[in-house]
Amino acid sequence: MKKILITGAAGFLGSHLCDRFIKEGYYVIAMDNLITGDLRNIEHLFKLENFEFYHHDVTKFVSVPGKLDYILHFASPASPIDYLKIPIQTLKVGALGTHNLLGLAKVKNARILIASTSEIYGDPLVHPQTEEYYGNVNTIGPRGVYDEAKRFQESITMAYHRFHGLETRIVRIFNTYGPRMRLNDGRVIPAFIGQALRGEDLTVFGDGSQTRSFCYVDDEVEGIYRLLLSDYPMPVNIGNPHEITIKDFAEEIVKLTGTDQKVIYKALPQDDPMQRQPDISKAKDILGWEPKVSRSEGMKKTYEYFKSLPEEELYKKEH
Ligand code: NAD
Ligand code: UDP
Repeated sequence: MKKILITGAAGFLGSHLCDRFIKEGYYVIAMDNLITGDLRNIEHLFKLENFEFYHHDVTKFVSVPGKLDYILHFASPASPIDYLKIPIQTLKVGALGTHNLLGLAKVKNARILIASTSEIYGDPLVHPQTEEYYGNVNTIGPRGVYDEAKRFQESITMAYHRFHGLETRIVRIFNTYGPRMRLNDGRVIPAFIGQALRGEDLTVFGDGSQTRSFCYVDDEVEGIYRLLLSDYPMPVNIGNPHEITIKDFAEEIVKLTGTDQKVIYKALPQDDPMQRQPDISKAKDILGWEPKVSRSEGMKKTYEYFKSLPEEELYKKEH
């Protein structure tokens, strides 16, 4: 049985990856310090013999017993309000955490895939973003803690690949959504749906002309799965190229939820990227991957999930 270590396993993407690798017949070691994650996302796996959970902070030395075939390093705060609130931990998990996991991969002779992000392109001057674009990041701005941690993560991963011959993969994930996002994590989808469910106005930041391209979680997981099993060591964008302005997206949520609340406008956070859309030619050519789930289908499932949560979740304060 192939053995895989998944860090950030109690989070949104990590928990879906645990489900996928369990389904594929792997032995899954899930690791998380629960700083932004929630054990409820993986508790349905605890009874399985091929699943175990380690409560551990990966910025501290990481070790697991026995052989290890693969590592997926997904531990990191991922929403702007999370990483603005815990900036030092964000830098540490991207830098020290990644270093620890690369070291573990080297000792175990395991293949490692690290979760990078479209944020490494910053506020992009090239549109859509291809993997060749170097990005436009404000290193000293508040978002820099996340962007630069992820850029360092890519650099150290390529260094381990080139210097130690380690088998590495880098996925650049674009805005992904679906069940198990934290309702109060501040990202636009839980924010808008939470507001609609509480009967509050929907808060668009800036004039809402900035764009994003939202990928449903099942598509994202399929792309990551294919990349891990491919032989391609360079970064690959995985995201849905269907782009929309945040203003139009707010109107879509108004229709989806049937709320009679208004859309209101608030200040745009510093360095909020004005446009974002993945060029997925590489994923198509190399992995034969493209997203299958339309935004309307994915958003319906996501809305159903948020509606099914206990009411107190709606009013829970952030971490
Ligand atoms: P999330 O906050 O739901 O999950 C992150 C998990 O990492 C949490 O369970 C958290 O407790 C854990 N964690 C954080 N620091 C840790 C540490 N030091 N040690 C152990 N565990 C730690 O976020 P997510 O959306 O699932 O994102 C997962 C990964 O994917 C992150 O690396 C993120 O940067 C990347 N990513 C996500 C998106 C997206 O749209 N969801 C986009 C780009 C990149
Ligand atoms: N956004 C918004 N209202 C909110 C939360 C977010 O208008 O209540 C905007 C945010 O400014 C950004 C976009 O929605 O332009 C996506 O934000 P998110 O935090 O989801 O992700 P990221 O900025 O990391 O892409």
